[in-house]
Amino acid sequence: MYCSTRSNISCSDTSAILSGIAKDGGLFVPDDLQGIQISPEECVRLSYPELSGKIMAAFLPGLKESMPQITAVYPRKFRAEEITPLTAVGDDWALELYHGPTLAFKDVALSVLPLFITEAKKSEGIPETISILTATSGDTGKAALEGFHDVAETDITVFFPYQGVSEMQRLQMVTQAGSNVRVAAVRGNFDDCQRGVKKAFAEFGKLPKEAQGGRILSSANSINIGRLVPQVVYYYAAYRKLLSEGRILPGQEVDFVVPTGNFGDILAGYLAKKIGLPVGKLVCASNANNVLYDFLRTGVYDRRRPFCKTSSPSMDILVSSNLERLLYFSCGGDAEAVASLMGQLDTEGFYKISDAMLSEIRSLFTAYWCSEAETAETIGRLFREHSYLADTHTAVAFSALEKYKASEGKGRVCVVLSTASPFKFPNAVLSAIGGEAGADEFETALRLADLGGVACPEEISLLKSRPILHETVIDAEDIVNYSVKR
Ligand SMILES: *Cc1c(COP(=O)(O)O)cnc(C)c1O
Repeated sequence: MYCSTRSNISCSDTSAILSGIAKDGGLFVPDDLQGIQISPEECVRLSYPELSGKIMAAFLPGLKESMPQITAVYPRKFRAEEITPLTAVGDDWALELYHGPTLAFKDVALSVLPLFITEAKKSEGIPETISILTATSGDTGKAALEGFHDVAETDITVFFPYQGVSEMQRLQMVTQAGSNVRVAAVRGNFDDCQRGVKKAFAEFGKLPKEAQGGRILSSANSINIGRLVPQVVYYYAAYRKLLSEGRILPGQEVDFVVPTGNFGDILAGYLAKKIGLPVGKLVCASNANNVLYDFLRTGVYDRRRPFCKTSSPSMDILVSSNLERLLYFSCGGDAEAVASLMGQLDTEGFYKISDAMLSEIRSLFTAYWCSEAETAETIGRLFREHSYLADTHTAVAFSALEKYKASEGKGRVCVVLSTASPFKFPNAVLSAIGGEAGADEFETALRLADLGGVACPEEISLLKSRPILHETVIDAEDIVNYSVKR
């Protein structure tokens, strides 16, 4: 069963996936993590589809029968044989999550979420169209469009911050074909998009059934538990790879460093720990939007600060939705307490958690952040010292790793989650390794391939000739209207 973080609402796994967010505005969490225990040793010999099927079925028993068919998409959609390969970078490891169709880690979950939804819809016997609303800081949008375009009985609307994503990210979205897709740029930042979408859910829920037009709204953001579950898998994949290569002994703890925005990816690491993966520390890496760094150090979450546009736009977020799930777990499931903190964040812009909660959280999490200059320096250093070409988000995490090792690291094996292809951010990456931008993004990408010694993915080069299909620009206030009327 799944329950809401904000009240005693509870429902089945399939219904949690279909609704995305609870009616009280809370997020769904599994109510019995203790009941799911998976040891990495039992996973060593499984293929990635088998491994993901095993872990995902444990979280989503309602979809167990369909798992073999669902997980078969991985080898079809991912270029890397291991799906999420682990690459040595000096003494540390990069867990490369970007070998899917849209070149960011979001593909791992969004390749299977449409199938979760289709199957859940069947098993719940729901005739309505599932209408996906998605706010994106850059990568979720395209990955969700790729997953949902032309899927029967679904439609999808993506909101991205106008001038707040990289040019490649924008082109990926506005060239998306499909009979059931809408893409709108929003005059505002990611937080405005996310707030608008959450509000649309609330408003839509209040409409009488006749006015809902035979639709049910759902989300492809990491507020949907169906986004997090597939992400638990690659923490296991990394661990068992280290195990099978003899880099660690059974039971030995491994640290994971996660470039963080909405706190979804790192929360998947937390879930992995809870179901039995030996995780040492989860290192939360932020860019200049370092609200999570402050929170994890002081227990005060304060979104009242300037929003910075950085070279790692997918992490330009001040309201990290999934933190709500961690709060819930770290106060022993006190939904009333969580609802009150979230209410305060909404009305006053900040909240402070108790010392007991903070120390509970700090026993597993730590945080570092890095500036724009440090991000660029790190890309340069990784390239010079290890011939490793990292994107801007991954570089934020490697910079955090250096700081972590220098101050509190315990010498454990460290895995950095590498979340996007450098070719999604060719300008920033090329200049960080000493190259000069070309006349346009595509020429820059070719130069990056030359200098970086890595082939430019076809998905990027093909974008150049795709027609622009979506030119809508709306105000943040219009997200609700745009979403409700379809
Ligand atoms: C979305 C994203 C992140 C942040 O992940 P969250 O789950 O939002 O914390 C980091 N890097 C890249 C490339 C992303 O697309």
